[in-house]
Amino acid sequence: TVDGGEVGIHAFLHVSAEEALRTAAEVDAIRTTGGAEADALHPLAGVPIAVKDLIVTEGQPTTAGSAMLQGWMSPYDATVVTKLRAAKLPILGKTNLDEFAMGSSTEHSAYGVTRNPWDITRIPGGSGGGSAAAVAAFEAPLALGTDTGGSIRQPGAMTGTVGGKPTYGAVSRYGAIAMASSLDQIGPVARTTEDAALLHELIAGHDPRDSTSLSGEVPALAEAVRSADVSGLRIGVIKQLQGEGYQEGVLARFHEALDALRAAGAEIVEVDCPSFEYALGAYYLIMPSEASSNLAKFDGVRYGTRVLPEGGPLTIERVMGSTRAAGFGDEVKRRIILGTYALSAGYYDAYYGSAQKVRTLIQQDFDAAFTKADVLISPTSPTVAFPLGEKDDDPLAMYLNDVATIPANLAGIPGLSVPGGLSEGLPVGIQFLAPIREDARAYRAGAALE
Ligand code: GLN
Repeated sequence: TVDGGEVGIHAFLHVSAEEALRTAAEVDAIRTTGGAEADALHPLAGVPIAVKDLIVTEGQPTTAGSAMLQGWMSPYDATVVTKLRAAKLPILGKTNLDEFAMGSSTEHSAYGVTRNPWDITRIPGGSGGGSAAAVAAFEAPLALGTDTGGSIRQPGAMTGTVGGKPTYGAVSRYGAIAMASSLDQIGPVARTTEDAALLHELIAGHDPRDSTSLSGEVPALAEAVRSADVSGLRIGVIKQLQGEGYQEGVLARFHEALDALRAAGAEIVEVDCPSFEYALGAYYLIMPSEASSNLAKFDGVRYGTRVLPEGGPLTIERVMGSTRAAGFGDEVKRRIILGTYALSAGYYDAYYGSAQKVRTLIQQDFDAAFTKADVLISPTSPTVAFPLGEKDDDPLAMYLNDVATIPANLAGIPGLSVPGGLSEGLPVGIQFLAPIREDARAYRAGAALE
């Protein structure tokens, strides 16, 4: 109860009970019959899963949390969804998110806020707050998220769940509504590192439909989790991702995690990543630039909502203008304006060009850090879940919450957030980062903390 009224978590925007029950019954029948078909079932067959509503699904609506796509049905499945169906995971429905995945609190959805199951007056993190809250509230054992600047890991931290951002290109982006294409990755949300690893392995693999898809073997993540062996592993504490701006309770849990890893045989070293200071600035230029281009397709003609202008001629420009004015929320408009400005002739070199240079410097910081350490560690977020509405009219304060998660996206490296205990009754997340294609190292270290 909040302010005398009953509220729910509101993790789901759409529930597909019938379809999920049908898949579950199918798996049941196969198991009962036994034989070769039963033996061939995926270990996650029959385990229900929730899907972030940025990932397109045939037969279920996809809104991206935006009024622009209200009632829109995709004519095809995202590659990850095709894989879920092939492995017979019942798809429970679609989860809430900040509109087009822009936000860190799930307060920017056109369909209402999602609440944190640990304290319903607080945010569940974002943009994938719906997926994280569904898993934390035991409404789903597994979920899919997307992570452009932390939207799987930060909600994981805020809700005490495990969230993984795979190496860029490891999981197909085909059918994930693009936010910032060079940063977006789909990844797993789960209650344990083993569940996350199994889901991650299931959705990974080369896809000719995604031009940035990696080829090669899917890493053996579940095996890494089962070993959970960190003896001799060099774990690098990122100097720049602690201290100022990080809550005391978060740092206390972080230092306990370091102690636990040390006790398990890991060697804790410190690494210096001086360019991280500029990561947030670079991200909030690159991300809006790419988003402004990706969202140009919502023109009132090709997809979803169309709002006709009042009076005057029905030119394409005016239909586009009235549709976008009504269909997009404030945060999305803010970023489109920022992005188109940064990309405009005359400013391109000063803004977008500089941001791309910073991106290279951050990659070089990681390269140097990974000569001293096998895996890096930091708090996932500087704070625990904050109260709903707290950062409503301060976009900059909201952006600052992403300081620890953004560098991994800029460099394309994998990251994993695991629960690291509580501070004043609220979950704290610990983040592990590994070199490109070395996701297994992050899972191995994450499992050691479980
Ligand atoms: N919070 C970040 C943003 O608002 C990250 C979003 C994401 O990863 N989708 O851009």
